[in-house]
Amino acid sequence: MTKRQEACLSDPPFWFRCINQSCQKEFDISRKLYQCPDCSDLLDVVKNYSSIDVPKLKKLFRQRRASNDPLDISGVWRYREFLPFLEEDLIHVVTMGEGNNPVLETPRCAEYVGLKRLRVKHLGWNPTGSFKDYGMTVAVTQAKKLGSRVVACASTGNTAASMAAFCARANLRAVVFIPEGQIAFGKLSQSMDFGALTLQIQGDFDVAMDLVQELSGETDLYLMNSINPFRLEGQQTVMMELFDQLDWKIPDRIVVPGGNLGNSSSYGKALMELKELGFIDKVPRLSIIQASGADPLYRTLLTSSRDLVPVKNAWTLASAIKIGRPISWKKAVRALQFTDGWCDVVSEQEIADAKAVLGRDGIGCEPASATTVAGLKRLMELGQSLDHEVSLDPDEDVVAILTGHQLKDPEYTVNYHLDNLYQHATYENRLMKKSGKLTSTFANEPIVVPPDKDTIISMLDL
Ligand SMILES: *Cc1c(COP(=O)(O)O)cnc(C)c1O
Repeated sequence: MTKRQEACLSDPPFWFRCINQSCQKEFDISRKLYQCPDCSDLLDVVKNYSSIDVPKLKKLFRQRRASNDPLDISGVWRYREFLPFLEEDLIHVVTMGEGNNPVLETPRCAEYVGLKRLRVKHLGWNPTGSFKDYGMTVAVTQAKKLGSRVVACASTGNTAASMAAFCARANLRAVVFIPEGQIAFGKLSQSMDFGALTLQIQGDFDVAMDLVQELSGETDLYLMNSINPFRLEGQQTVMMELFDQLDWKIPDRIVVPGGNLGNSSSYGKALMELKELGFIDKVPRLSIIQASGADPLYRTLLTSSRDLVPVKNAWTLASAIKIGRPISWKKAVRALQFTDGWCDVVSEQEIADAKAVLGRDGIGCEPASATTVAGLKRLMELGQSLDHEVSLDPDEDVVAILTGHQLKDPEYTVNYHLDNLYQHATYENRLMKKSGKLTSTFANEPIVVPPDKDTIISMLDL
């Protein structure tokens, strides 16, 4: 009996399949797998949709918005027909009303990048302040279903914060591995507040990732990083929700930051499935933006390498994407191929300024999220130089995905506006030296004034 038959006979219409073209082995969905047991490559969740009525489902998704059932309120479980769970599994669902993030016009950003119109979908407005909640509700639900007791992740902060919260809700023990001294304070505070065992690993993210991956192979720990296919299944619903919000008028391009590349991978998979099932006719181009000091995907594409070109000691102030060996890189490449997309890089200066321009639109975000606006500006500028094949048309309908909340990393924002943001700073209990000063082009410094009405009135020109 082939693996495929084994999978199909086990009845649920979902199974794991190895993404390696020369392997493609299939496995039962109820196994605790993260990688192919045969060839160690990544796994996809494959779903067998024999009977899907597209107009009926679109209508149902819309109707659920008027319901008070927690499953319908969730911007993830509202689209549960796309998730690998049976009706009877839904008793395990752990939800906090995640999703439901608005799509917003950003006229100042549009002008800044040279587009006629630019919209953002702000996934930072989730229960724990980042898009990670979309995947975590699904992965923690699967952990419950499997009867796991302890779950773990390596994290630059947001995965840890999200996992800790959902585990607290689900009564699961959570262990987070974070790189010591390299995590934004807002995120660290969340892990602690939500009761996770917080291990500060003396190493960077890539070191922490290796460690937790080995441990989950050798022990009972259930791994919650985005190598876990259930995380990516949940994150796919960002696309379903976005298109539902746009009345299924599909944009030309979607821009997303790239770190461990789970998010871009899951968008690619969502687009493949939506196209195949006939929910969409057109596929938006995916643009993945990395920071120039943490750009392994960019380097890999640029050299047409068959293996990942890793970045040793990846560096960026956008700590959420400070990753040199992204786990899901192959799936991200597949997403770019399917959508005719590409990966680009932006500098620290470009990220800082784009974030400030978003702020002027009344929209706060993490530095990592601002790579999207910075990337669009870069694309527009590159397009004007004749020899460059990438181009961005001012008329394009673009949605930028903002990934994390402004208050995750307020220190960055304050330093920018005080004209005190440095690319590198070394601490030994106190600040020792700093270098690579960034220019605060859009600084908005507070002004010290005496507590005197007349002075203030004359200052305000009232
Ligand atoms: C996790 C994260 C990213 C990177 O997403 P990947 O799926 O790892 O590529 C970007 N921005 C924020 C705010 C994040 O939390």
